[in-house]
Amino acid sequence: MDNIEIQKIRNIGIVAHIDAGKTTTSERILFFTGMTHKIGEVHNGQAVMDFMKQEQERGITITSAAITTEWKDHQINLIDTPGHIDFTVEVERSLRVLDGIVMVFCAVGGVEPQSETVWHQADNYKVPRIAFINKMDRAGADYFQTINMMNEMLGANAVAFQLPIGDEADFNGIIDLITMKAYSYRELDMFESEIPSNLLPKAQKLREQMIEKLADFDENLMEKFINGIAISEPDIRNAARYAVLNLCVTPVFCGSAFKNKGIRLLLDAIVDYLPSPVDRGIITGRDANNPEVIISRKPHISEPLTALAFKITNDAYVGQQTFVRVYSGELHSGSYIFNSTKQKRERVGRILRIRADERTEITSLKAGDIGALIGMKLTTTGDTLCNENDTILLENIRYPETVLDMKIEPLAIKERDRLGIALSRLALEDPSFKVRFADETEETIISGMGELHLEIIADRLKNEHKLDVNVGKPAVAFRETITREAEHTYRYKKQTGGKGQFAQIAFRLEPNPGKGIEFVDRVKGGNIPREFIPAVEKGFREIVEKGLLAGYPMVDIKFVLFDGAYHPVDSSEMAFRMCTILGMKEIINKTAPQLLEPIMKIEINTPDEYMGDAIGDINRRRGKIENMRRHRKGSQKLNGTVPLMEMFGYASALRTISSGRAAFSMEFLHYTPLPKSIEESIIEERRKKKAERD
Ligand code: GDP
Repeated sequence: MDNIEIQKIRNIGIVAHIDAGKTTTSERILFFTGMTHKIGEVHNGQAVMDFMKQEQERGITITSAAITTEWKDHQINLIDTPGHIDFTVEVERSLRVLDGIVMVFCAVGGVEPQSETVWHQADNYKVPRIAFINKMDRAGADYFQTINMMNEMLGANAVAFQLPIGDEADFNGIIDLITMKAYSYRELDMFESEIPSNLLPKAQKLREQMIEKLADFDENLMEKFINGIAISEPDIRNAARYAVLNLCVTPVFCGSAFKNKGIRLLLDAIVDYLPSPVDRGIITGRDANNPEVIISRKPHISEPLTALAFKITNDAYVGQQTFVRVYSGELHSGSYIFNSTKQKRERVGRILRIRADERTEITSLKAGDIGALIGMKLTTTGDTLCNENDTILLENIRYPETVLDMKIEPLAIKERDRLGIALSRLALEDPSFKVRFADETEETIISGMGELHLEIIADRLKNEHKLDVNVGKPAVAFRETITREAEHTYRYKKQTGGKGQFAQIAFRLEPNPGKGIEFVDRVKGGNIPREFIPAVEKGFREIVEKGLLAGYPMVDIKFVLFDGAYHPVDSSEMAFRMCTILGMKEIINKTAPQLLEPIMKIEINTPDEYMGDAIGDINRRRGKIENMRRHRKGSQKLNGTVPLMEMFGYASALRTISSGRAAFSMEFLHYTPLPKSIEESIIEERRKKKAERD
């Protein structure tokens, strides 16, 4: 198994709008691929459920970061991709490590906003895709309407590779337009037969359309097509593979995951059309010692090691698992690797391959493969692993801002420490989740990308860490910044008997729009000894994290340290840190500080008749609709922006406005200054709360 060549690996993700059937499809893929080992043992519907239950009991679920399985002599690594918009960052992260996507659509709902967002992300990362139209058994299922939507809304150049047999509840088979055979289903079995005569003309027409589309990208096929020369199955498959790899077309397949139909043919398509790591080609990074230099590596075992740690999970059975994708070279268990992000060496312990029903220990992971490392202490998500003599630094994974805060505390005071440990573990696993301790209110605050994100964190504390917690209402994560430059000199002095404390700094704060937090040291002539400079930076960053105006983290500020003074005996790191913290508190009012609020991009799909009300409602929420276009017949797609703080309870408001027929999705866009009146009331509220506590 370990030596399956790279061409036979498929690193794929299954992506879908929530509820379209991603989970069910993944489960069935694992079931049917697993079943090839167990044929004869399981032959009824109950078996699927048994298999899944067993899987859960062993602590492996289909939500594992990556699961390996096999189909027709190929290795498929199924990489978990989250379904909810709150996790677009997770989607981006998984797009980095997968080579191809199966896009699952619901045959009733068609293309929904979240699929659109992910589709465009996949475009950005140039990830080849095939489509699976699921739920063909449901009332209202419409295969061709969904294909039309893919073309109109996604520009997918979607081409039917199959024709369903029977509608809705009567859906019981699939015609493969390449083999021109019909496949029907009884329980878990699939039977091949001739195409029913009533469907033959339609199948022939669709086959012709498919070939014509593919011929646009394949000369051989075009020539045969034009000259009426017989076209073989491999002719079509080769052309289709090329067209998928180059993002020219999206082949469309169909089925009902729930009813076990269409999964085997989908697996064939994954093997036939989605890329192997070789097709993905070279990967580039920077020289870790010399960032100007770009380095590229081929997906080959003979190249130096390049690997990316893309997810860390904690598992009750094996502890911390660090999931890595190896791009080039080979990663051996028990060897030392160099973490070029952290600039440190680390020993790789065991390497595990995660399967649906077991974990197997392997001795190495080769170029193109994905697996879990056990016992990594220093490596965190996004780090590059390589050889010490051949360093490379891959682009780190981008994380958007957290926009919601939630207070959290243990039910039992004595669990405080355990909660702290559990939260920092979760933050390590998920860098888009943050924890901080607010001094003035003595509260632990967790921050995430949306309500669901925080709810899931709270659930995980309960289920995985067995911690009962109280959580507050989610609140908008404001930010603080400054709008005016100011200079200040601050002296920190406590010299009354014994060893005293002394530090003095002269510094300037500057607005730093779009450039984040910066610390610049311009001290000359040793007025502050070298060893104390990091303490100044530390004090500055502590304040930046806690904020000064209303207790929110600060953004876009540059701190320039240009002078200072010290005392040969009384100066210490502590003194310089305190000096900076107190100095910052004094200067802040000279800098015209300001509160910023998160603005969200919103997209609403609504039937025409509710459009006016939906727009009016967004306007009342200080938002604006900037763009509207026809979505499908009788409905509109509205795009605009709206402040997050006005959006609590929006889902139910929109339901009321539209009798449940409109849908929306939202994601973080940027921070802008809060209107003055709102800013004042927030600061005032904060002051009151603090006074109550004191
Ligand atoms: P996810 O949110 O995309 O992971 O969707 P799930 O796989 O959890 O499916 C959502 C719901 O749709 C569940 O109740 C499934 O049982 C159901 N479902 C999934 N696939 C099918 C299908 O092919 N036909 C029908 N009728 N229901 C399905």
